[in-house]
This record gives sequence, structure tokens and C-alpha cells, in this order.
Amino acid sequence: MKKDYYEILGVPRDATQEEIKRAYRRLALKYHPDRNPGDKEAEEKFKEIAEAYDVLRDPEKRAIYDRYGHAGLKGEGVSPTHFRDFDDIFSTFSEIFDEFFGFRPGRRRPVPEAGADLRYDLEISFEEAIKGVEKEITIPKRTTCPFCDGSGIQPGYQPQPCPLCRGRGQVYQTHGFLKIGTTCPKCGGEGYIVTNPCKHCKGRGWVKEHKRIKINIPPGVDTGVRLRVQGEGEPGKHGGPPGDLYIVLHVKPHPFFYRDGNNIICEIPISFVQATLGDEITVPTLNGLERLKIPPGTQPGATFRLKNKGVPYLDRKGRGDQIVRILVKVPRELTPRQVELLEEFERIEQEKTDTPYRSFWEKVKDYFKKWQHTSKGEK
Ligand SMILES: [Zn+2]
Ligand SMILES: [Zn+2]
Repeated sequence: MKKDYYEILGVPRDATQEEIKRAYRRLALKYHPDRNPGDKEAEEKFKEIAEAYDVLRDPEKRAIYDRYGHAGLKGEGVSPTHFRDFDDIFSTFSEIFDEFFGFRPGRRRPVPEAGADLRYDLEISFEEAIKGVEKEITIPKRTTCPFCDGSGIQPGYQPQPCPLCRGRGQVYQTHGFLKIGTTCPKCGGEGYIVTNPCKHCKGRGWVKEHKRIKINIPPGVDTGVRLRVQGEGEPGKHGGPPGDLYIVLHVKPHPFFYRDGNNIICEIPISFVQATLGDEITVPTLNGLERLKIPPGTQPGATFRLKNKGVPYLDRKGRGDQIVRILVKVPRELTPRQVELLEEFERIEQEKTDTPYRSFWEKVKDYFKKWQHTSKGEK
């Protein structure tokens, strides 16, 4: 058996529209799911109240109901259960909630505000940046107060319309012809004041929390890369979504590897004799030691490329290369015997007709010859 709509709202059958409205506001506030979290009975009751009000506030539907009862409404094709989901009820609720506080049409309602984004600077090692790592961080952040659900009002109490702006959130001053509206200083533009602030959060609606968050750092990241953790920023206001958390990465330098994008650069010192005669040398890579052949006549600064030994790409498969840059060390302290040998070496070198030095000095000579000619010509 369906309950009588008048009974649900607790009003007489000849109640005025004003009385019906007042009864509805009172009951809707009492049974609203926000105030009775998890209470199935209150939820059902709230739906009932919303349905009854939907019919009785409409003179046409009310007349049909008065004459034919519930059956009449069905026959007219008016579904009394058109509140198909809770969103409908909530929107109705927020309308009457506003009316309840004397909010006029056009008055600004609390606008949902997204929460602020948070930034966390995280330092990781060179190897972690390349291989990827899972990190757990602890961030101090605000979360919605679980006791008042972010309203800042002690459960069981209601906010009061602001006496200064009378719920408008704005106060007006008249200057001659001008009417200037400013944010109400008493309620901060909220339109209501909290006389019984939530004891848990002291009315702020949020509490500080140290939240532990697991971060999956993919292989191949570098300093400056920002990782977004959705929804882990500050909570939103008035039902707005929370902000995001941005992890900004800082990679510690490595003792002998450098990064150039996805390539790894490593400088290897060799002796001038190794450079001259060629050799097979050992080079460190990200995956251990490798052998590398240096051909005879290798010049200082020469580079060798080890394919696919670099840093993995973040956005695609594969990885960069390792670049081995050769540093040729010139010995500083020589024994007399070494000096003797090198001097002999140089003597033989000078006897050669074709050396790298010779071709350079030929060019220099040519250049100065031309220069002398043009200088004379000008005089
Ligand atoms: Zn609270
Ligand atoms: Zn105010």
C-alpha cells in the first residue's frame, strides 16, 4: 500500500502551498542522505518526501491526486516516481536548501571549486631514473573532514543564514547612483555562518593528513619530468573535484655517466700510445663492463657508439645509445729513457714527407704569402 502524500508530509488535506513547502523543507533537511550517511531508512523516507512534494506542490497534479489518489496519477501518465536517480533528488534538495535560507533567484550559489594541485619534489638516483622504480612517499595534505564531510558543521546542526548579507553572500553600499556589491565580510561570501563548527576539524571542513602514496616511476625519466597522480591534490570545495598531485623528479648526478637525452655519455681516458697504436679497452656501461676496440690513430675527442646501451625511451620502445668519448692523456712526468725514445720518435717523424702537421703548415705558408702580396699592393 502506498502511503498518503499528505500523511508523508504531515500536513492537512487543505494545507496551503506555503504550509506544504514549509513541511517539505523541514523533513527534507532532516532526512537528507548527507545528514544520514548509510541510513537506508532515511534514504527511503527522503525519496518518499521528495515524491510527495513533487505532486503536492503542483496544483494540477495535486487536484488529480485529491480526486483519484495514486491510481489517478498513474492514469494521467504522471509518474510519481520520476526521481529516477538520486541526482534528481539532490538537485531538488539544493534548490530548497537555498530557498530555506532566503536565497533569492539569481543569488550566487556555492560554486563547486576544484581543489588545488600539489607539487612534490622527489630526488632519485641515476640508476633509478634509467631502470624505473617504485617509491613510497609521505605527503602532508588536506583531506575532507570525515566527521562533517567537509561542511565544517558539527553533525546534527545546521548552518544559519548570514545575518549581515541575509544569505546573499554580498553586501551592497549605495554611493549616489551607484550600488556597489562586495563579498560579505561576515560569511566570506558563503551566505551562511556556522554556529556549531565541527569539533573534529574546528569548522575548516578539512584535516591535515600524512598520506602515503606509492609512485611508479617508469624507466627513462630525467630531471624535470613531472608525474601526475590524479586526485591526490587538495580536496575540492562545495562538491568540487580534488586537485592532482605532481611529482617533480630530480635525478642525482652519476660519477662517470652523463645524459644527453636518451644517450649516455662516458669519457674514457687512454694514453697517447694507445691512441696512436690502437687498443682494445674496457668501458663501463649501464649493464656492466664491455670491451671496445680503438683503432690506430684515434684522435682526442673521437667518439664511439654502443648501440642500444642508452636510456629507455619514455614514449616508445627501445633505448638510446652509449657514446664513448676518448680523452687522450699527455704524460706529465717522463724518465730520461722515455724522453730519449720520444726525441728519437720525433726525429723520424720530421723526416717523413707527409705528416698531418706538414699539410697544415703548407696552408699557413700559402696564406701569409698571399697576405704579403695584397699588403704591398695597397701601399
Ligand atoms: Zn569536520
Ligand atoms: Zn554574509
